[in-house]
Order: sequence, then structure tokens, then C-alpha cells
Amino acid sequence: MDHSGRSRRLQEALPENNLDLLLVTHLPNVRYLCGFTGSAGALLVSDRGATFFTDGRYMAQARAEVSGARILIARKAPFLAAAESLAGSRTGRVGKQVLGVEGESMPAAVRDRMAALLRPKFKLRSAPPLVERARMVKDADEIGCIRRAVEVGAGLFRMARKKIRPGTKEVEVAGTMEYAARCAGAEGMSFSTIIASGQRSAVVHGRASNAMIPDRGFVVCDFGVILAGYCSDRTRTVHVGRPARAARQMYEAVLDAQQAAIAAVRPGVTAGEVDGAARRVLRKWKLARYFTHSTGHGLGLEIHEAPRLAAAQRQRLEPGMVITIEPGAYIPGKWGVRIEDVVVVTPSGCEVLAPRDKELIVI
Ligand code: ZN
Ligand code: ZN
Repeated sequence: MDHSGRSRRLQEALPENNLDLLLVTHLPNVRYLCGFTGSAGALLVSDRGATFFTDGRYMAQARAEVSGARILIARKAPFLAAAESLAGSRTGRVGKQVLGVEGESMPAAVRDRMAALLRPKFKLRSAPPLVERARMVKDADEIGCIRRAVEVGAGLFRMARKKIRPGTKEVEVAGTMEYAARCAGAEGMSFSTIIASGQRSAVVHGRASNAMIPDRGFVVCDFGVILAGYCSDRTRTVHVGRPARAARQMYEAVLDAQQAAIAAVRPGVTAGEVDGAARRVLRKWKLARYFTHSTGHGLGLEIHEAPRLAAAQRQRLEPGMVITIEPGAYIPGKWGVRIEDVVVVTPSGCEVLAPRDKELIVI
């Protein structure tokens, strides 16, 4: 991964955002910029380059993983070490310097401690999401990682299909998939596996429970793996027993909506327009009010990243963005359907990763 290039571009963006320095503390951002995968680290970026702070537990790991930054091992929390090193530094400048912090991931107490340490030389300010913006467009290495994660994820659904039977517990299905994910090299799942059967299929985030799969009804399977740090996310809905006509129709409607949204993905289109394409189809099927979440989200080092594909989102899509397309419809107390794929925005449209047939599977 091009860590030096990423932190250099960030350095260049500081002046136009009225910042002299930026302290990166959100760990996925730290990883993006310098490669560190541990759980205690902070990266200070200034016009002099990048310095990575961690504690003694991570000495060996930091030396093995971090690139494009100086490494400083401290005996205290990384953010404090960064603040103390700044407080003791000679800036050679007249007036206060502005240190940007990642307000959303920094607890108020931490921010107060830092401000006290850095007074009077530095002023703290919540920085705009500069790293998140950079992370929205993936480079070829990242797309390669996501592609492999999605392939592994797609393989898990084969296991689920074999395991889904009336009387089997949802957690058993999830367990089989999660074991297979580990065997395929996954570091973990990108979120708690969702296996929602029968009436529970209408629960949007129906994590696998101890419920038994009933004789008849939909089973929503939403799952993803983390491979080399990158997430996958995929949903397939199957039907156990013979589907009623209305159930079949709802599946067709959701698939239709998903395909319309995928067809709408291309550079220059707004995230809101892609969401609208899915919603329009469901409106035609009189199911719009049962589509209770957004159409998709970016993914990468985190399972939910920018952009968000929801109504009125004005972010325009660009080649290299990786997003999910996942419309659904949920009738409370009855049933629910969701179909989700990961797509990469290309110069001319998009590529669906691990495309497979999506006709309704009846078990
Ligand atoms: Zn999902
Ligand atoms: Zn998703």
C-alpha cells in the first residue's frame, strides 16, 4: 500500500483547510496512512512529515508494519505522547498554530487534556473528515483486497445454503459460515452475521439467534468477512418451502430494484440518485413504505464508510469508489427480503464483484 503517497497528499491538503497539523487518532485512518494494525496508535501529520506514536506493547509490530512515518514509542497513551512532543517542540513561529483533531472519534475528556497540555502554543480545532474523504476512492491495491474478500464472502453462502433446513438454529448456520470464513483465511467477520428466518426476516438487522428455521418462509442471510484488513458485505435471501405468490412477487420486486440501482451507478451520478432508482421500482410495486433503510454504503477498511447512498445525498460517484447496493422490503410480523452486492464504480459504469445468479432459491 502507498502509505507515503497518502500521507504526502494529506500534508498538502492541510493549508487549504487552515490547519498547520493534523492528529489522526481514528485507528482505520491511522492504518490507511501508515499501515499500523494495532489498537493503540496516533499519527501526527505536519509539513515536516508524519510521526507515529504508540506504546511499548507495539514496539515490534510498529517497526514491522509502519511505513512512511517516523516511529516514536512512549510510556503513555499515544495522543498524550503526541501532545507532549508538540508542547516541547520549538515551532519557530509567531502566534498559535492550529492542530486539527478528529472530533468524531475523540472523547471530550481526551480533547480537554490535550488542549490543556498544548496551551498556549496550539489551538485545537475539529478537522473536516480529510482522511475519510481520501479513503472514499480506492486504489488498485485496495480494490484487489476487497475483491478477494467479496469472493471469500460469496463462498460462504454456498455453506449457508447446505445448512439451512427447517429445525436448524440460525446460530448454527452462522457458525458454519464463520468457521468456513476462518478456514479461508479471514481475520474475522466484518459484522455479526445476520441469519433472520420466518417472521424474523422482517427485522432489518436480525442477527443470528437461537430461533429454529421454520418449515416455510424467507431466510435473510447478510454476512461479510475481513481479509487483509478489508471488508466484504453481501446479502442473499432464500425461501424454505414453497413460496406464496405474494412472497415470490416481493422477491422479484426487490431484485428488480437492486438491478435498477446497479444500472444507475456511474461516475457523476449522485448517491441520492442511485437510492432514488431503487426506491422508484419499489414504489411501482407498492412496496416503497416497506423499504426502511438506505440503498447502500461505501466499504473498505470499515464496513460502513462514505459515501452513504440515501435520499438527498449529493456526493457524486467517482471511479474507484466501492459501494454496496442493498435494497430490501420488510413487512412487520410477516416477512422480509434483502439482496446486496458490492460494486466498484468504473469509468463507464460499475462492476459487480463476485456476480452470481440471483433467482429465488427455494430450499
Ligand atoms: Zn450487509
Ligand atoms: Zn451493507
